[in-house]
Parts: sequence; C-alpha cells; structure tokens
Amino acid sequence: MFGSAESEDLKIFRDSARRFFERECVPHVERWEREGIVDREIWNKAGAAGLLCAMIPDEYGGAGGTFAHEKVLIEEQVRAGVGGWGNAVHSGIVAPYLLRYGSEEQKKKWLPKLASGELVAAIAMTEPGTGSDLQSVKMTAKLAGNQYVINGQKTFITNGQHAGLVCVVAKTDPKEGAKGVSLIMVEANEVEGYRRGRNLEKIGHHAQDTSELFFDDVRVPTANLLGDREGLGFIQLMQQLPQERLVIAIQAVAAMERAVEITVAYTKDRKAFGKRLLDFQNTRFKLAECKTEATVARSFVEHCTELLLQNKLDVQTAAMAKWWTTQKQCEVADECLQLFGGYGYMKEYPISRMWTDSRVQKIYGGTNEIMKELIGRSL
Ligand SMILES: Cc1cc2nc3c(=O)[nH]c(=O)nc-3n(C[C@H](O)[C@H](O)[C@H](O)COP(=O)(O)OP(=O)(O)OC[C@H]3O[C@@H](n4cnc5c(N)ncnc54)[C@H](O)[C@@H]3O)c2cc1C
Repeated sequence: MFGSAESEDLKIFRDSARRFFERECVPHVERWEREGIVDREIWNKAGAAGLLCAMIPDEYGGAGGTFAHEKVLIEEQVRAGVGGWGNAVHSGIVAPYLLRYGSEEQKKKWLPKLASGELVAAIAMTEPGTGSDLQSVKMTAKLAGNQYVINGQKTFITNGQHAGLVCVVAKTDPKEGAKGVSLIMVEANEVEGYRRGRNLEKIGHHAQDTSELFFDDVRVPTANLLGDREGLGFIQLMQQLPQERLVIAIQAVAAMERAVEITVAYTKDRKAFGKRLLDFQNTRFKLAECKTEATVARSFVEHCTELLLQNKLDVQTAAMAKWWTTQKQCEVADECLQLFGGYGYMKEYPISRMWTDSRVQKIYGGTNEIMKELIGRSL
C-alpha cells in the first residue's frame, strides 16, 4: 500500500529510510525496549544518512524536502516496528518551529546541529498540574537584563534524557493566560539549574525516554525567545499543532496497515480444527473490517497531507484526523491481537507491542476529548 502514487524522489527516500531502519534499528529494538532508551548514536547515524530534518532547507543542513518526506520516514519507522525513537518530535515538530518562528541567527545556530544529530530536540509543554489546559502552565520565564530566568517543572517529555535543545512553553507574563505564554529555546547541556528527572516507566513505547525535567533558575539569553516579541507562544502552538496531530494520524494509519499485514500472515499459517484461522468466516470478517478502516483512514490522511502541503490544513480537520485514526488504531490493534489468541499476549509477538503502543495515541498531542471539543466548537 505504501508509495502507490509517489514521486521518484519520495520512492528513493522511502527506500533509503527502509534500509536504515532495517540495518541500524531493528537489530537493537529489543535491547532499547529493555533499557528504556535508544542508543544516543542512532541520532548521529540518522543524521549522517540524511534522514533527520527532512523538511528543513539544505541551507540549514536539512534534506531540503517537504512534509511528504517526513511522512515517508514516519511510515517506515512504524513499518519496521521501531517504536521508541522520538524523531517525529525532533524533525516533525521542533525543527519546524525553529524554521517558522526562529530568527536567522537561531536557525543557523541550531538547525544544522539538529540535522546532523549533534543535538536532540524536545518540546516541553506538559507540567505535572497542566496538560490539556495549556494556557495554565506554571513555568515562568522572568526577564532579568538580557536574560530569562526560567523556573518550574515539566513532565512526560519525549526525548527528555537525550535532548540537548528543549523548546520550553513558559509564562513571560504569569498574570496573563494565553497571552502570557512564550516559547523559549533552552540549550540543556549548556545551562546551570537544568536537571533531567526520571525516565518514566510506561505501559508501552518502552524505548522512548519520556521524562521529567526540572528548571531551577535556568538562565538563557533573551535571544532564545522564539518570535520577535513575548506572548506569541500560544498562537505559535495553535498554528503548529495541526501538523503535530497529522504526524500522529500518519503513525496511526501505518500501524493499522502493519497490524492487518502481520495478522493476515499469522492467520494463514496457524491452524485450528483442521483449518487455517483465515478460513473461519469470523477471521475473514474481522480482518475485512480492519482492512476497510485502515483504507478509509489512509484516504483521509492522504487528503489531510495534501491540505497541509498547501498550507490549508485547519485545526478542526487535523483534530478529526487525530482522534478518529487513533481510535481506529486502538480498535484494530485489539481485534488483531485477539486473532493471535494467547500468542497475541506474548511480548515476543509484535502485535502485543502494537497493542500497548497504540494506547497513548489517544492521549498525547491533545487528548481525543480535546480534539472533539475543537471540532465541536466549529459546529
Ligand atoms: C508517552 C507520552 C509522551 C508525551 N510526550 C510529550 C512531549 O513530548 N511534550 C509534552 O509537552 N507533552 C507530552 N506528553 C503529554 C501529553 O500531551 C499530555 O499527557 C496530554 O496533553 C494530556 O494532558 P494530561 O496528561 O495532563 O491530562 P489532563 O489534561 O489532566 O486530562 C485528563 C482527562 O481529562 C480530559 N479532559 C481534560 N480537559 C477536558 C475538557 N475540556 N473536556 C473534556 N475532557 C477533558 C482529558 O481528555 C483526559 O481524558 C506525553 C504524554 C505521554 C503519555
């Protein structure tokens, strides 16, 4: 299914991504899952292979592609079953923030390092007391001469252990709500008062270093503010979130397709009552439903990608893609796991990991309830 109407350029990129995941990631996935983190060097290897920052122009060290290249990479990562590597945040979220809102100086300073893997990026929005209600973040960034002094705590931050560049959501004006929010870049390895907390234990995505972060009088130059004045952070987040949500929807569709593919293979092989599992009408009907849902989801996500490439993907449409595809991903993973019987519950079978990994898709990037709120407001 992948790559049916793709340009030659995207086909070549897909091929190189596929080979990279097979060669550099698949042999290590089990160990990464056990260790709770990917090897730091995978970032440098991906950078050397030209796979980081695919949609960043080559003048800043990127691959000079578009969101379509990022999409290819996301699909190939899911296809290879490499759950933990947080490149979708690094290349698909933080680098585009820098490209869109960064000053020329910021872009020249950080984008080439993100593209080479010298720096790993994270985005730190969520706090222990504030997730969905983003404008209520408590982290403060107080102006002191030509510096910001940052205080507060973040949690659930993807790439939290490896990140050397963190895009932080903080209040430059704590008296204000959304208007007091700014995005500030923090060079995590250069500043004092920055501390990485626990690499959190999760029910899925074990290889992803989802972490707590602590900021205790962290001083950064005012030049690290994203945008030309304070208070633009909430607008910047709202403008970029449709793309982040589409990234999650792309992951969801690729996961559904993979689940169907491996379940079809298993049910052709496994026998019960003298027949292949696929010869039972229930198996065929369940897989027919899953395949239909994956195909319908694929079609909508392709449509959303086209809209995004034309700068026309709005908040509501992206929210529809995010909630619906992730809901279907969870349902498909569950139905497919059922067809594996007891083996589906065993960690050595990929479907079990696909089931546990699917669950968070309905939570991060804005919960599916918040997605429905966004759609509901436009009715
Ligand atoms: C593995 C993982 C990785 C993550 N990565 C990152 C990251 O890199 N960076 C980052 O900043 N964050 C990250 N997050 C955080 C994630 O975005 C938040 O968990 C999410 O936004 C929900 O916030 P919360 O956990 O505080 O839940 P809450 O906001 O407390 O919500 C709890 C429940 O209440 C519901 N709810 C809340 N408000 C409403 C409402 N208005 N109407 C109806 N229902 C409502 C929610 O839908 C949810 O069901 C990650 C989370 C996980 C689990």
